[in-house]
Amino acid sequence: MKTITILIPAYNEEAVIDKMYKKLDAVCRELSQYSFEFLFVNDGSKDRTMDYIKEFKRRDSRVQYVDLSRNFGKETAMLAGFDYAKGDAVIIIDADLQQPPETFAEMIHWWEEGYDDVYAVRIEREGETWFKKWTSNTYYTLLQKVAKVKVYPQAGDFRLLDKKCIVALRQLREHERYTKGMYGWIGFKKKEISYIAEPRAAGETKWKLSALLNLALNGITSYSTMPLRIWSIIGFIISMFAFIYMAVEIIRTALFGAEVAGYPSLIAGILFLGGIQLISLGIIGEYLGRVFVETKERPVYFIQEYSEKENEQKNQIQ
Ligand code: UDP
Ligand code: MG
Repeated sequence: MKTITILIPAYNEEAVIDKMYKKLDAVCRELSQYSFEFLFVNDGSKDRTMDYIKEFKRRDSRVQYVDLSRNFGKETAMLAGFDYAKGDAVIIIDADLQQPPETFAEMIHWWEEGYDDVYAVRIEREGETWFKKWTSNTYYTLLQKVAKVKVYPQAGDFRLLDKKCIVALRQLREHERYTKGMYGWIGFKKKEISYIAEPRAAGETKWKLSALLNLALNGITSYSTMPLRIWSIIGFIISMFAFIYMAVEIIRTALFGAEVAGYPSLIAGILFLGGIQLISLGIIGEYLGRVFVETKERPVYFIQEYSEKENEQKNQIQ
């Protein structure tokens, strides 16, 4: 019998997690030809999420959990999940019921057909503001233009991954993670399906604007060196103009003599170039900062507790 791990990263989800568990239970009961592992990754929740998970574990032997030592963010919580998942395939799903577990059957169907990464694209985003939709669309269009790997815009983390993909993802241990780019980077056979996104069942979104911005920057800087190159090109063009301008000025002075004027244009030129230099320094800084974090080679996360203490066999490759 094949085992499928349902991976649920959860951060302060006490309001929905019980509902989520009941839904999972009902849906997986229908898929009786598979055995399931419900792997909850508690990402340092400050509410009663962990108590709920322990309660599920007492009642249900399919439940396992990894309790992280603090909040590491969803991207890292998912890596912890990949490390501890035991299934022949892993389905990643949010704890807030925005993604319908009813989609599992279709995912598993395509997996059985031989696909390794069955990702679900959301059809419409109910309950989200136009601002969030607009920023996310623009961002993905931009990312796709500059990144070397394909990032599937409307596809999130809601997907089924074969064990092959999980083994591959375990080896990508960078700290500044952008998992959506990794799915494309590792390759393997992909299949697109769709689902209708629901509004969050309860509780609040865990993403702050700053966290989203950080994820967005990680997406671009991890998959493209384009931002670095753009500034060399712009710098080159500006220098060319400056050079031509200088030559013209020298000739003009030689022919017609010097004239004292042009302070505004001088100041404008200095400010313009100063600005460009600061921006390009900032961009180099973004990359350098990431290099700095990675060279420390720290473990990506620590765990407080794993539900199967006895045979703690971590699958992690290091
Ligand atoms: N999440 C997490 N750690 C975090 C933030 C979020 O594990 O630091 C989990 C959260 O519990 C949920 C999923 O990631 O299961 C998606 O979060 P959310 O629904 O808040 O994001 P949104 O759907 O608004 O993008
Ligand atoms: Mg959500």
